[in-house]
Amino acid sequence: MSLIIYLDGNFVEEKDAKISVFDHGLLYGDGVFEGIRSYGGKIFRMEEHIQRLYRSAHALMLDIPMSQKEMMEVVAETVRVNSLQDAYIRAVVTRGIGDLGLDPMKCKTPTVFVIASKITLYPEELYEKGLTIQTVATRRNSPESLNPSIKSLNYLNNILAKIEANNTGGMEGLILNSEGYVVECTADNIFLVNEGTLLTPPISSGALEGITRGAVLEAAEFLGIPCAEPLLTRYNVYNAQECFLTGTAAEMIPVVKVDGRSIGSGEPGPITIQLRERFKEMTRTGGYRAYPSTEE
Ligand code: PMP
Repeated sequence: MSLIIYLDGNFVEEKDAKISVFDHGLLYGDGVFEGIRSYGGKIFRMEEHIQRLYRSAHALMLDIPMSQKEMMEVVAETVRVNSLQDAYIRAVVTRGIGDLGLDPMKCKTPTVFVIASKITLYPEELYEKGLTIQTVATRRNSPESLNPSIKSLNYLNNILAKIEANNTGGMEGLILNSEGYVVECTADNIFLVNEGTLLTPPISSGALEGITRGAVLEAAEFLGIPCAEPLLTRYNVYNAQECFLTGTAAEMIPVVKVDGRSIGSGEPGPITIQLRERFKEMTRTGGYRAYPSTEE
């Protein structure tokens, strides 16, 4: 079925949702984006996603031509016009149309589009059995070059890591920072369980401040599971009892093998399963309603 896309103030048919070849989002990856999820018509952590989008844009001196509140309404409206309940939403803001030089000053109006569609990242079976992942040679962008907190349209670093993972038979690529500490995977944060404590690399190591990451840390707090954010090495990963990844698209997925080493029992662990249940519950409650409530 053809989708309805929000593009620069209008809702248009998918076939008409076209942007210029002079758009700097395309020519230079100059722009920002968010991947957001709607569960049963409730948009999960909408405010946090939109805030992150505006923070990324601010870091690039890219002025999004609408307020955060208006952007949230555009996202909700895109879900509504497509009559979706469970959706994966992509909100994108580019620098807009310029000339062939890279000067962003020449781009007068940012391009804004929002797509609401579906996504299935991994088959259901892998949520039960767990992933096999592989460390890649490509390192995470360092804050001195392209700050990894900026969720920009330039994802080549992660794409190169994904290519490496594909080439080595890994379902995901484990990325280290330039100092050799574990950071995250190509589009997901990583968690370990060691002696009952939930561990995840700190944001300062180069990890994206994932919204699912934040939700899982809240879930752990709710369940009384202690959490810490220390620097982690591959040795810590290999010797953890449990490992899983988090991301808006992947949600929470167990990892059972890393670089040929079995993690814990080689099966998704009890804390992972418990957290996943709580996470699912969180996606069903709260959220920004795309449709008027019929419950109250
Ligand atoms: N790390 C990277 C590099 C990502 O692209 C993503 C997906 N946006 C994540 C982590 C997970 O973040 P979130 O839970 O906000 O989707």
